Amino acid sequence: MHGPLDPPEQTDPTDIPTRELDALRQEVDHIDDGILGLLAERRQVARKIAAAKQRAERPFRDDTREESLLIERLAAAGKYDLEPDLVSRVWEQIMADSLRVQFDFVQSTVNGRRDRISIAIQGVEGSNSHHAAIALTPDMQHRQYIACARFGDAMTAVRDGRANIAVLPIENTTSGAIAEVYDLLLDTKLSIVGEVKLHVNHCLVGVKGASISDLKTIHGHPQAVAQCSNFLAGLPDVEVIYANDTALSARRIAEIDNPTVAAIANEQAAEIHGLDVLAAGINNRKSNYTRFVAVAAEPVTVDPQVPAKTSLVLSVSNEAGALAEVLNAFRAEGVPLVKLESRPTVNNAWQEMFYMDFEGNIGDPRIQSVLEDVRRHTMYLRVLGSYPSRDLRPHRRSSPKPERIIQVSTPGPKPERDGEASDSSVRLAGRRDKKTETLIDINEVVIGGPELVMIAGPCAVESIDQVMKTAKAVKESGGKLLRGGCFKPRTSPYSFQGLGWEGVDMLAEAGRVYGLPIVTEVPAPEHVERMVEKADVLQIGARNMQNFALLTEVGRANRPVVLKRGMSASIDELLQAAEYILAGGNQRVILCERGIRTFETSSRNTLDLTAVPVLRRRTHLPVIVDPSHAAGDRELVAPLAMASAAVGAHGLMVEIHPDPTTALSDGPQALTLRDFDDLMQALSGRTSGS
Ligand code: PEP
Ligand code: MN
Repeated sequence: MHGPLDPPEQTDPTDIPTRELDALRQEVDHIDDGILGLLAERRQVARKIAAAKQRAERPFRDDTREESLLIERLAAAGKYDLEPDLVSRVWEQIMADSLRVQFDFVQSTVNGRRDRISIAIQGVEGSNSHHAAIALTPDMQHRQYIACARFGDAMTAVRDGRANIAVLPIENTTSGAIAEVYDLLLDTKLSIVGEVKLHVNHCLVGVKGASISDLKTIHGHPQAVAQCSNFLAGLPDVEVIYANDTALSARRIAEIDNPTVAAIANEQAAEIHGLDVLAAGINNRKSNYTRFVAVAAEPVTVDPQVPAKTSLVLSVSNEAGALAEVLNAFRAEGVPLVKLESRPTVNNAWQEMFYMDFEGNIGDPRIQSVLEDVRRHTMYLRVLGSYPSRDLRPHRRSSPKPERIIQVSTPGPKPERDGEASDSSVRLAGRRDKKTETLIDINEVVIGGPELVMIAGPCAVESIDQVMKTAKAVKESGGKLLRGGCFKPRTSPYSFQGLGWEGVDMLAEAGRVYGLPIVTEVPAPEHVERMVEKADVLQIGARNMQNFALLTEVGRANRPVVLKRGMSASIDELLQAAEYILAGGNQRVILCERGIRTFETSSRNTLDLTAVPVLRRRTHLPVIVDPSHAAGDRELVAPLAMASAAVGAHGLMVEIHPDPTTALSDGPQALTLRDFDDLMQALSGRTSGS
């Protein structure tokens, strides 16, 4: 054996006879194998240490010990005459691995351990998603894969309970964000539960005997093609065919078995399908990484000792500088933001959704207070997940809290405590922390500003003919939104209950044809997800104003909500119901006064006109009035509508019908299409007074 410092016996390698070189290489292989064996052994001990620390209730991280160990190791390095720099770099890696093992251990005790997992991936085994899935579930004994054609299918597999997690690529260091996955995350109820970064090394693979100069066609995933664009530009005569995933394109060319056809895939896929690597590492950038996320039906809890990352999606409020205020909230608490991505909002052109990742655990009260601050400047905010971060920075200490130096808008003096606006139960709806009015933009119709916005349509959608005729009249008379009930929560079980989803499709069709956003009632929490795909505005009916499960669900939805006042609800109760929606992250709430129950019997309900100025004083949210349900009688609708405009309503919602005598619900209060036109004339020039 040689000591580490013994000079090599031969200085010129070409002089070493082949036999001797082979022997030395074997020796080195043996040493390397020993190093790996020791690393594996060290890992096992680290796991035991983690368990022992947990039993002893000792913290997992101990910066002082880590530092003194490093010093000891550096001192020991001198003994072997190894450079301190080498030792500290190797030591850092070993420590990072040890911590990762300990964090994985503690995490598995927090969320329950399982040894079998079903994983949905886009693509087949051998794909990069497949490798990411393995990296994301390090200690799993049995993994079963559900190969999906599209990212959305992988998410559906989790939603339907066929898979425990879906593993999806979300961004790449060369080609950027994977927009489709971001958009899917916005609409899903699934949570991000983990992330991993994978080094992606693209190769050009072909059948045995193929050569690059003979190629005519290359199959590749669009992301892979984008990441190898420079290499492909050097092959101008080759046609690129897009494939669903990298591993599948390797399989396909193995089947085609033609030396003029190649694919972009990884080395493993080439091996699985018996293909040759024609060129390796063809990505534009050598450091080509893809970040994958795992999503599951339930969020995970991250142990406070484990480094966590949290992902959010939000849209900012209409106040000037709102995005800067959001960023400031993180800065003020010294919470590092690690990612900011923006995507256009579906249904609302030029309104951006911002996706943010930051270092922090949603269970940490400090992070919760940051989010509370953030919420004040957003229209919509949802936590996509808080999960263990794999980007461990082993010797990183938390940075000191910086001074808040960017002041975008100077907050004015706190309002007088008049017993109303200072009420802590209406923290988000109240005016104490939000000085500006909330403007709700629904496809360029703005509710909450000076315009008196008219919403009209039938009480219930009855047929395509009825809803088309009504929509035409709404449009022609100047109405801005089309309403129509499809799920009708009726007082009597024998009354018409609505056409359900079939009705929603009719309403959506009429809205599409006449260019009117649609408003419809969503009756139950389990209907929300589907309704979000169909309706522009969700309505919560008076009978559901305190259905807290429903309020919570629409609070997570990325759609404006018309919240109707319960027939026996006080203004405070209405505001607190709104608070549920706001606290869920959805800031686009429109309050609707629709008459309350009093001792008076000469009208269906009593329109509480006082509620309008009271609400406008107490909340920044828009306030509209539904005179139809208040009156129950079409003759009273017009005067109540005029009165509502006079007291400052931001909009009106009225029921209209092409032939009220045949209406299946609320016929007596429905205006004819002509009456509606007259009302529109009478209201012309009226504003909300804002
Ligand atoms: C409606 O607007 O269709 C409705 C049912 O109203 P409310 O919930 O106010 O009774
Ligand atoms: Mn009605």
